[in-house]
Amino acid sequence: MNAAHPALAAADRMAQDATTARPAEMPDLQAVWTLLETVTDPEIPVITIRELGILRDVRLRNGEIEVVITPTYSGCPAMGQIGDDVRAVLQAHGMSARVVTQLAPAWTTDWMTESGRNRLREYGIAPPHTRAACNVVQFTTRKIAEHVEPAVACPRCGSENTTETSHFGSTACKALYRCLDCMEPFDLFKPH
Ligand SMILES: [Zn+2]
Repeated sequence: MNAAHPALAAADRMAQDATTARPAEMPDLQAVWTLLETVTDPEIPVITIRELGILRDVRLRNGEIEVVITPTYSGCPAMGQIGDDVRAVLQAHGMSARVVTQLAPAWTTDWMTESGRNRLREYGIAPPHTRAACNVVQFTTRKIAEHVEPAVACPRCGSENTTETSHFGSTACKALYRCLDCMEPFDLFKPH
């Protein structure tokens, strides 16, 4: 599972090309994107910051690489760690970047990629519903909307016969569920 990441190998080649074939003042932004594909979320290490939708942009500003990240939940303590990880992976390939935190538009779980959702499920965490799925519920009256939620499928057996046992799981962004078929407890990454 931790075998050399193909994207990383490609990034190594690209970074090498960047240092040999390009003048230092012309950083290869595509190589930066590829390198940052390997940076994972400190709290859920199976998902990358790109898949999570935290990584918003890589751009040049005054000849300097600028990496734009948006925090997931307000005051997310992992953001400092993510900034350090971004700088470290680039530094290891002879590049430096400024990490910029962008608060608006606010992060939403809708930015999570399909591959990110699959990785969460494989890891045993039910991925968040997209906002479209939640809106269907909110067409009904407010009172019903409070009680009716889209079905949460068990990441282990796929059953939708599940129940929320605690609105706050191992972290504030997760709710604790239990599958009533295989009886296993699991986390739901709450839609946000
Ligand atoms: Zn189950």
